[in-house]
Amino acid sequence: MSIKIGIPRGLFYFYYYPLWLKFFEMLEAEVILSDRTNKSIVDDGVRNSVDEACLPVKIYHGHVINLKDRVDYLFIPKIMSIHKNEFICPKFCGLPEMIRHSIPDLPPIIDTTINFRNSRKELHKIVYEMGSYVTKDINKIQYAYEKAIEYHNSYKVLIHRGILPIDILEKQKIVTEKNNNLKKILLLGHPYTMYDSHISMDLIDKLRKNELKVITQDSFDSQAIKDKANTLDKKMFWTFGRQILGAALCAMEQKDIMGIVYLSSFACGLDSVIGDIIERRVRRDTNIPFILLTVDEHTGEAGVETRIEAFIDMIRWRDKNEGDISTHGKYLSAR
Ligand code: SF4
Repeated sequence: MSIKIGIPRGLFYFYYYPLWLKFFEMLEAEVILSDRTNKSIVDDGVRNSVDEACLPVKIYHGHVINLKDRVDYLFIPKIMSIHKNEFICPKFCGLPEMIRHSIPDLPPIIDTTINFRNSRKELHKIVYEMGSYVTKDINKIQYAYEKAIEYHNSYKVLIHRGILPIDILEKQKIVTEKNNNLKKILLLGHPYTMYDSHISMDLIDKLRKNELKVITQDSFDSQAIKDKANTLDKKMFWTFGRQILGAALCAMEQKDIMGIVYLSSFACGLDSVIGDIIERRVRRDTNIPFILLTVDEHTGEAGVETRIEAFIDMIRWRDKNEGDISTHGKYLSAR
């Protein structure tokens, strides 16, 4: 009987699931994914986590509870840094400990530390440590890793083509907008907030139903994001912060972005800083409409829907009636 490895459907799942899935499958383990986020996962997560945790981390606890009694191991790596001289939020670094402390009766946790802040020279050690929970055969682990990287690269190719992770991972079918003339909306935020339909209250679908093409920071070329982020006065050393800010700066130069929506999680320090920087930049340097939506476990869907509808109405009205005159007058064209 194969070893069952549980992967919680939260946090880095939206970027690395294809890599992890293929790696463990190549080692002949069975990968069990937690259910899609739902009310009982949220309630369990909120009940079993510390009050100070942000919404995505609380929900991650709920995913662990959803999995813990049906797997041999839980895969909860301790992710400190994925790029040189950058960091992931400290809540990721302490995730395995937080989970162990908060949730009783857990199976063993694969809690390998991933820290590429200085270099990637520990990569093979990391890969071997992860694989050794399933087999001690070093060649098999190396082969599984190579196949997993190939598989993950094909996932990244789809994302570079403009397909959002949620469409690849969650819907099992690729959404291609037939109408190339759709107006574009830039949605920014942490991937686990934007792409989790329960947390985001189906925000992507809501925008699409209004005939808008949704792009996110994942829709931009990573080098372009890097270059823009490097123009900031101070280095942004949070990986997600750099991506979100870089994408916002790229979008500010595009003429076809009709509005920017920032989806932030309550109790996320990073979101409050990045959201504020972007809002100031957008209002100072462009006339692109901007809205910040903050969600927590008590946020009602009706409230989000009303704000989004009002925002879209305003964009449409403006597109139809305002021509090249901005609300502030700054962009009045010379006639
Ligand atoms: S960056 Fe914000 S949302 Fe993400 S884990 Fe940290 S506190 Fe939570």
